[in-house]
Amino acid sequence: MSIKNNIEKFTQTLPAGCRLIAVSKTQPVEKITEAYAAGQRLFGENKAQELTAKYEALPKDIEWHMIGHLQTNKVKYIAPFVHLIHSVDSLKLLTEIDKQAKKVSRTIRCLLQVHIAREETKFGFSESEVLDMLQSGQFQTLKNIQVCGLMGMATLTDDVAQIRNEFKGLKTLFEKIKAVQIASVSMEELSMGMSSDYAIAIEEGSTLIRVGTAIFGERNYH
Ligand SMILES: *Cc1c(COP(=O)(O)O)cnc(C)c1O
Repeated sequence: MSIKNNIEKFTQTLPAGCRLIAVSKTQPVEKITEAYAAGQRLFGENKAQELTAKYEALPKDIEWHMIGHLQTNKVKYIAPFVHLIHSVDSLKLLTEIDKQAKKVSRTIRCLLQVHIAREETKFGFSESEVLDMLQSGQFQTLKNIQVCGLMGMATLTDDVAQIRNEFKGLKTLFEKIKAVQIASVSMEELSMGMSSDYAIAIEEGSTLIRVGTAIFGERNYH
C-alpha cells in the first residue's frame, strides 16, 4: 500500500469528530510531501529540532503536533508555530510553555499526558494528580496556555480488554474534568490510539489518533 492509499483509507473510514495525525517522526520530507499531496494536513513529531526543521521545509498550512517528551529548554524553538502540544507532563513544563507563548504573543494549546499504561515510565501525570494541578494557584497564574484535553498511551499488549480499560479510564477522567469550571481549561480533544490500537481508541471516544507505521511503514532509525 502506498502512503496515498493509506491516508485515503483512514480519511474514508474515520468517524465524524475524530481526526488523523500522521506521525512523521524519522520520515524524510519527501514522504511527508506524499502524504500532504494526498490531502493530509495534521502531522506529529516527537523531537523539537526535527519538528522545527520540517516546519521550515514544508507548506505553511500544515498543523504541527508535538507528541513526544519535551524538555523545557526546547520549548522556545517550537513556540512560534506549534499547533498543539500533546505531551505536557509537568506544571514546570506548562509554566515554561506559558512564558514562551507570551514572548511570541500566542496562546499555546496543550494536552496533559496521563500515564494510563501498566508499563513503568517517567512521563505523564497520574490520574489522581491532574485535577489538583489544574486547581492549584500556580496553574491559575498561567495566561498564555489553554489546556484543551488529555493524551494517553495504552500498554503495548495483545490484551484488547486491558487496552480498552485503559482508554476508558482516560475518557472517564476527561469527562470528570469537563464537568468542572476551570479558567484556561476546556476538554475538547482526547488524543489516544496508535497504529496497533487506534480502532479500540476510536470506539472509546478518541478525537485524535496518532498513526505512524500504518501510514508510512516501519521507521528507519539511524
Ligand atoms: C511514534 C508515536 C506514535 C505513532 O506510533 P505508531 O505505532 O508508528 O503508529 C504515536 N504516539 C506517540 C506519542 C509516538 O511517539
